[in-house]
This record gives sequence, C-alpha cells and structure tokens, in this order.
Amino acid sequence: MSDTPMSKSRRDAVKMMLGTAVAIPVINLIGVGSIRAADAPANAVAADDPTAVALKYSADATKADRAAAARPGMAANEQRCANCQFMQAAQTSGDWTVCTLFPGKMVSVNGWCSSWTLKAG
Ligand code: SF4
Repeated sequence: MSDTPMSKSRRDAVKMMLGTAVAIPVINLIGVGSIRAADAPANAVAADDPTAVALKYSADATKADRAAAARPGMAANEQRCANCQFMQAAQTSGDWTVCTLFPGKMVSVNGWCSSWTLKAG
C-alpha cells in the first residue's frame, strides 16, 4: 500500500461520488415516488390509494389496461372518467372531477378505473 497522499483529482472524484451517494436518498425523500401531475389538486386520488389500487385507477387512461377489463358500452380506448356514470359533472373543475367511488377526493377527467360504466343518456 502506498503512503503517498491522495491526488487532488482523486480526492475530488471521491468527494463527488460521496455527494452523489448522499444526494440520491435525499431526492427520494423529497418525494419522487409521490409525484403528481403539476395541476393535480391536493385531494387528487394518489396512485397508492387502496381503492385506486383495487380498482386499477390511473389518472391517465391511456396507461390503464382498459381492453383487458372489457367494460361494455364504448370502445375501450375511448373510456375515461369524463364519460363514466360515476363522474359528477357539476363538480368538475378543469381536468379534475369528483367520482362517487372516491368520496372526498378528485379524479382526472382523463383517468379510468375498472368500474368504468358508460354514462347514461
Ligand atoms: S368509476 Fe368512473 S369516474 Fe370513477 S374513477 Fe372509475 S372510471 Fe373514473
């Protein structure tokens, strides 16, 4: 083993690696795992909401497996919260609306879940 002091460039590289090793967990603590759409209201249904998980809700219908659910009434690729029976149109605000299956929370009008039901009339 050499007794020569670590070169400046090597010290800088070690510092940078240590800084990166510290920064990654900090970034995770900040909440990368709980990122919401920038315009999402505070009470938007979270991806890890137990009801959302059970109903396979996604705030982005294009990312939900609508075809596999085979909900009747409309082509799967057209199904979204905006044309679902459970969406409360009077309480819609921008891209967010109220769904009777998620009391006190809001869902995206462009979302979808496996309980999607064609809006009557
Ligand atoms: S029940 Fe309808 S409105 Fe409610 S989350 Fe599911 S698809 Fe959207």
